[in-house]
Amino acid sequence: MRCSRFVTLLLALAMASSIAAQQSHREVLLLMGSRFELTAIAADTAQARAAVAAGIAEIARIEALISSWQPTSQTSAINRAAGRAPVKVSLELYLLISRAIKVSKLSDGAFDISFAAVDRIWTFDGRAYHKPHPDSVLASVANIGYRHILLDRTDTTVYLARPGMKIGFGAIGKGYAANRARRVMQDMGIRAGLVNAGGDLISWGAPPGRAAWGINIADPEDATRSLGWLQTNEMAVVTSGDYERYCLIDGERYAHIVDPRTGMPVRGVQSVTIVCPDAELADALATTVFVMGVADGIALIDRLRGVECLIVDDKGDVFHSKQLQLQRGHGGKP
Ligand code: ADP
Ligand code: MG
Repeated sequence: MRCSRFVTLLLALAMASSIAAQQSHREVLLLMGSRFELTAIAADTAQARAAVAAGIAEIARIEALISSWQPTSQTSAINRAAGRAPVKVSLELYLLISRAIKVSKLSDGAFDISFAAVDRIWTFDGRAYHKPHPDSVLASVANIGYRHILLDRTDTTVYLARPGMKIGFGAIGKGYAANRARRVMQDMGIRAGLVNAGGDLISWGAPPGRAAWGINIADPEDATRSLGWLQTNEMAVVTSGDYERYCLIDGERYAHIVDPRTGMPVRGVQSVTIVCPDAELADALATTVFVMGVADGIALIDRLRGVECLIVDDKGDVFHSKQLQLQRGHGGKP
């Protein structure tokens, strides 16, 4: 009895010293046009540094694959061949597109990677614009439609069936990259860490000496303030907001998210936060709920098991899904 207590005590001491010996390494950098932050916690700094470097390399690799800005990417090749020919792509890109189309079906087209056909009309750089002529908006909407993205699983080809069609991963790529960076770091033996991909965050394990990460949800009206915080271990917390990228049209503010059914930027919502275990799904759903608005958006999220959301509308009112467990106050930066 006494002996086993001694063993327990020793074990506890060993655990305490291993916690004390944990090292955290964090890097902040610009990737995918956004601010990324990667943190790894490991027994020694060299291991944590190596893992963060591998996570960064993985994100850069994904950016080269999915970017529609880089002419050498497979995505650009798909867009160039719109209306002309199917393009052979890697299985990875093929599967990402398949998953994006699933979200389109789930959201009845509110989420659609072929929204990108309207990029000839809208530029979300915070500058002021005049409303475009409705005819030009309608002409670009004709080139939107996930049903015209034709996939061939055997050959892993992607074909945009209409000339003028375009796809873009602005609403799902950062979440995918966050998932992958976490996977690479975990595969290197990192038991706790955090990837923040421009507001798309995924965590695992817990910081040294703590039971969980504390993740603040920013108030869209003042990003330095918190609407509350969440305690998470293996969880993604992803926020889409209109405070970073937007445009002013005839003096009114529009988010950089487009309703694929009308071609118009969305109004009515300031920010959407999605909480679920998968950063890619959370990223796509945040954009989806933005387009669907408060009532339809919450109804969709309440139908999905293990997914929660918080919405701030344009009046500053806060709405959330049934099961969201938000802690009051400021949880402190993890
Ligand atoms: P954030 O960049 O704030 O994380 P999102 O994840 O919602 O926001 O991504 C917004 C980006 O998604 C836009 O800049 C655009 O590239 C793309 N996008 C806009 N509307 C849609 C839509 N309806 N479906 C899919 N992607 C969209
Ligand atoms: Mg998104």
